[in-house]
Amino acid sequence: MKVKVISILEDNYMYLVIEERGKQAVAVDPAVPHRLLEIVRREGLSLVAVLTTHHHWDHARGNEPLRKELPALKVYGGDDRIEGLTDKVTHNQKLKVTLRLRHFNGDTMFIGGCGRFFEGSANQMHHNLTQVLGTLPPETKVFCGHECTIKNMKFAVLVEPENIKAKEMLSWARARDDDDKPTVPSTLKDEFDYNPYLRLSEEAVQKFTKKEDPVEVLEVLRKEMDKFKKPKERLPPHAMLALEWGLLRP
Ligand SMILES: [Zn+2]
Repeated sequence: MKVKVISILEDNYMYLVIEERGKQAVAVDPAVPHRLLEIVRREGLSLVAVLTTHHHWDHARGNEPLRKELPALKVYGGDDRIEGLTDKVTHNQKLKVTLRLRHFNGDTMFIGGCGRFFEGSANQMHHNLTQVLGTLPPETKVFCGHECTIKNMKFAVLVEPENIKAKEMLSWARARDDDDKPTVPSTLKDEFDYNPYLRLSEEAVQKFTKKEDPVEVLEVLRKEMDKFKKPKERLPPHAMLALEWGLLRP
């Protein structure tokens, strides 16, 4: 089995999981469907299923156009809000496409980081990270939905300045970026070495957050990270307004 990593949109990944003998493929979060289909055709594959990690547009918006092209396509996901869903799945469900769905919730773990608590509390995130993802075999590969490793690792080094693995990971991620290469996949074992969200009981992490209870540590970490990675402003507000009125071309 081979996984093709395809960067799309600003920092998203879609994946094509290819079973080479049967030339079958499963797409994960194919939010730029025409590019996916190009690859599927070029490689002579048949696309049998789509796995959608969550309903946000940057992960799910390709499902309907793909189903138009391929009416027999199965679209799996764990949430009714997912556009184009054909088959709702649950945790640990096994698919016929030889993939076992261990965790089916997107933007939970990133390399060196974790997702925002958009639709869940710190408690839930803690459960997902430690009880669900954290208990998978250590060699499990982490293919996350966004490329945000450099930012995450800068923050990780701030949290744990003495963590050599974190510093190494940061410089490796920068080198990959210089070469225009993705940092996915990592392994769960790697993540335990440098991802502060999986290191909630480490002394340095507790010191940084001034908390001891793991859920509280997690909550403070995430808040600090939000301050740390302020969204970039692409245009001043008046220019955004002009865009809306159609006065400027993007
Ligand atoms: Zn996302």
